[in-house]
Amino acid sequence: MSSIPIYMERLGVLMRHHSRAHPSGLHPVHFEVLHYLSACNRFSNTPQAIIEYLGITKGTLSQSLKLLEQKGYLSRSMDLKDRRIVHFDLTGAGEAILAEHLQETRQLLEHLAPPEQASVEKALELLLGKMIEQQGGKPFGVCRTCKYHRSDESSWCSLLQLPLEHPAPDKICREHVAP
Ligand code: SF4
Repeated sequence: MSSIPIYMERLGVLMRHHSRAHPSGLHPVHFEVLHYLSACNRFSNTPQAIIEYLGITKGTLSQSLKLLEQKGYLSRSMDLKDRRIVHFDLTGAGEAILAEHLQETRQLLEHLAPPEQASVEKALELLLGKMIEQQGGKPFGVCRTCKYHRSDESSWCSLLQLPLEHPAPDKICREHVAP
């Protein structure tokens, strides 16, 4: 039998342990929120999208957002079109603490040669896609792989009817749909 499931399980345990041991006192879920917000686009930095991505409860998220804001790691802003919607962005301090937290993982990856990194990335992407499909979750892919992405001299989202940065940034989106 393949050892991959036990390796995946153990990696998850060790990563959570690394988060818990951080001197800031932040919990694993706080780093997960910061990491998600650093990776998502401007249409996906809302509480509802964070809940969908991380699979956490509304209560856990609202406590986490409150604490991260109090510590100065996040800032909030109202949606310009719908005042009921709130957006969250990392502050400079939020980006700094996340970068420091991820440094150890990045250093670990340096033990792999570029072709090994590429094959691990491909395998993880495949496994992740299959797991999301099995669980009926949203893919949270990037614009360039989305059926709503239009690109010629500029970039355009035909679902949201909004212009995108060109070339479209590699940010994940809650509205992403594979072609
Ligand atoms: S093109 Fe797709 S991934 Fe990009 S913003 Fe639009 S819906 Fe999201």
